[in-house]
Amino acid sequence: MNHLPSEPSALPGGPFVAYNGGQLVVEQVELRALAAQHGTPLFVYSQAAVLSALAAYQRGLAGRKALICYAMKANSSLAILKLLAEAGCGFDIVSSGELERALAVGAEPAKIIFSGVGKTRHEMRHALHAGVGCFNVESLAELEVLDAVARECGAVAPVSIRVNPNVDAKTHPYISTGLKGNKFGIAHEDALTAYQRAAALPGLRVVGIDCHIGSQITEEAPYLEAMDRVLDLVSTIEAAGIAIHHIDFGGGLGINYNGDTPPQADALWTLLLARLDARGFGNRTIMIEPGRSLVGNAGVCITEVQYLKPGEQKNFCIVDAAMNDLPRPALYEAFHQIVPLQPRDAPPITYDVVGPVCESGDWLGRDRDLAVQPGDLLAVLSAGAYSMSMSSNYNTRPRAAEVMVDGGNARVIRKRESVEELWRLESI
Ligand SMILES: *Cc1c(COP(=O)(O)O)cnc(C)c1O
Repeated sequence: MNHLPSEPSALPGGPFVAYNGGQLVVEQVELRALAAQHGTPLFVYSQAAVLSALAAYQRGLAGRKALICYAMKANSSLAILKLLAEAGCGFDIVSSGELERALAVGAEPAKIIFSGVGKTRHEMRHALHAGVGCFNVESLAELEVLDAVARECGAVAPVSIRVNPNVDAKTHPYISTGLKGNKFGIAHEDALTAYQRAAALPGLRVVGIDCHIGSQITEEAPYLEAMDRVLDLVSTIEAAGIAIHHIDFGGGLGINYNGDTPPQADALWTLLLARLDARGFGNRTIMIEPGRSLVGNAGVCITEVQYLKPGEQKNFCIVDAAMNDLPRPALYEAFHQIVPLQPRDAPPITYDVVGPVCESGDWLGRDRDLAVQPGDLLAVLSAGAYSMSMSSNYNTRPRAAEVMVDGGNARVIRKRESVEELWRLESI
């Protein structure tokens, strides 16, 4: 019997992540060679995969006044930001630190939008001095503070109010943000009052409206519903004499982790623009804030099998990557496909793939059929988003290195952290 897995281009991340001659490659680079050179755990990204994901949005929005603001919390490595800035993207940021990152790669401040429920006065000042294009404001209290800070700075802050359309994005509760019970945004029914207040404050200038209903959304319907709710509000607010120049529909488009079939970005936007046109808003400036869908399937994390530990109830495959490198399974019980770099012709055994961290939550995949031996290399797929950017040093584990592949070339975009760097700021 042949136990070799079929080698479809249908891996998440395909065709940029695929088997070629029995070896897993990213573009034209064999991952085993990168692991040998740089060690594990190692994040590897495909530049072409990022640009291809962006191109789908660009096709979908072609011919429109539109700005794609990459939500950099998904993966804020400078090389990725630089790639996207050069490809025309603006950025959606949620902290002063992210603002610094955007400026460090030469992003145009006017193409930066500042989101988040808890902006501090210091962060507001920083963003005003930088000249960001818009503050996406999430509460009445924040409107008042931003007005005061802007006037102190002798500035007028461009604002959009994040409205909560009360739409179910049908995703994991931790990444659903557009329901009444979420901490995000201003309730639909309070939006007009908030806009009237914003328009009355001398330190603020209303420029737009925004919403973001959640993440890993795999259906069109929640987007259409949210769009309808937001357009209803635009009509109401403009009828009250307040002009809305841009409409920001947020991010949230899902990716294929495990046979998920989210709409393609171009098809989704063809559909959404048809609705926008039908409702007479086709000439508005459109903004979007995609994160995961631009980078998620462009990245893999290579890890080495350390030990196999058979058990009565479970077999464990213990690898050298852990929840500090790949926090999504521990945080949201998220699924990543885990595949061998070089498949073995042997019967698979069912394992829980776990890391060495001292937590039962430290697992990367449960009940996975794998034919592996200690020393084998595995790839955790779909690891480009919310992995490295969420990584930590828990258990005093230095963070992994990152490599960017472009065709047949690979370059280190972040060195592996050293232990000395971990305690650099400490004293005894
Ligand atoms: C996280 C976030 C995004 C990006 O979400 P994705 O699911 O990664 O596309 C966009 N906008 C806001 C306000 C966010 O918080």
